[in-house]
Amino acid sequence: MIQNLKRIIFQDVQNENETKKVSVILRLNAITMCIYFLCLLCSFFFTGRLELVFWCVPCFCAFVAAFYTTYLNKTRLAVMVSFVIMVCWVVGFVWEFGWNCGAQHFIFVLVVLCFTVSYVKIRWKVAMAAAACILRLLLYAYTTLNVPHCVLGTGFSAIFQVINTVFIFLAIALILTVFSRDSQEMEYKLMQYNEKLQEQASLDPLTGLRNRRSMNEYFEKVSEDYAKGKMENMSIAIGDIDFFKRVNDTYGHECGDLVLRNLAEIFKENMEKRDVVSRWGGEEFLFVFYNRNGDEALVFLSSLREKLKKMRIPYKENIITVTMTFGLCEFDFRQGVDYSVNEADEKLYRGKESGRDRIVY
Ligand code: GH3
Ligand code: MG
Ligand code: MG
Repeated sequence: MIQNLKRIIFQDVQNENETKKVSVILRLNAITMCIYFLCLLCSFFFTGRLELVFWCVPCFCAFVAAFYTTYLNKTRLAVMVSFVIMVCWVVGFVWEFGWNCGAQHFIFVLVVLCFTVSYVKIRWKVAMAAAACILRLLLYAYTTLNVPHCVLGTGFSAIFQVINTVFIFLAIALILTVFSRDSQEMEYKLMQYNEKLQEQASLDPLTGLRNRRSMNEYFEKVSEDYAKGKMENMSIAIGDIDFFKRVNDTYGHECGDLVLRNLAEIFKENMEKRDVVSRWGGEEFLFVFYNRNGDEALVFLSSLREKLKKMRIPYKENIITVTMTFGLCEFDFRQGVDYSVNEADEKLYRGKESGRDRIVY
């Protein structure tokens, strides 16, 4: 039964330009008000004030009608109906039973509704809130100048106050829950989406390594670290696959991609957390050794080079092996990124010239 009720309340609107959220808020408000009038009706009934029961029945029916209008796929009409009914019953009750019945407090629910379900500009919402405030003051003025048509005893006033308090809180809590849940969910999704976009923008899709753009950001960050004295030195190396064109030419581009992915995995497995490797170009990788001098970086690269040589990549019926050449240098913070990258590049070139599969430092 709860499932059915949920399905009815959260049933989507059919027209594209109508909103589900508004309909759900109006439905919850209408249901709350129906239960409110049922409670009033019961308390009047059991205390023998049958003449008051007749006040509750039309109000109950009016909110059933308000509930129904939310399924007509005409959101504006549904909002208008709910607003008119809210104003009418509040005015009617205060006019009939006086200030003590407390119906005027439901004007607060009306204000919350006005800010959550109406699609007018914010200044119109503020104007509507001001109108609600004036309505309340007018009702107060009326009740101080006129004796109510139906005087409630102290017992009845108390019943009204208790039921009113419970239902006003319930209505406001329900409206704001639906209203804020959606916007919070939306914000959360947007945040996740942005994070994903940022990640995609900084990673190379083939290897999952950082791309050149993300490396440039990284260099800015480490330069700040260096300026703050958080690190003493840093080394960089550029590694290039030897005769990679041959792999592509012999086994195809798909095989070349497989080799690149395998190499990236080896790098990730072996690099320390503080170090960074990126795909700098097509088959070139840039390594950064954070807070490590050239000698320390050389030890690491030598061991990496050995591991690469031993790597066997099965592709169809073939086993692919590759070697790499590296140009290594200490990062010169005074001269900047371009200078140090050029230096590593020149050393790489020398490595290629002198036979490949080596580290030039
Ligand atoms: P060297 O030892 O002098 O570096 O020889 P090489 O063949 O590796 O050098 P060259 O620069 O002539 O060739 C690099 C090749 O890398 C050419 C290009 O097709 C290939 N390549 C670059 N990016 C990719 C990629 O994303 N996937 C594949 N499969 N191949 C790529
Ligand atoms: Mg190259
Ligand atoms: Mg190459």
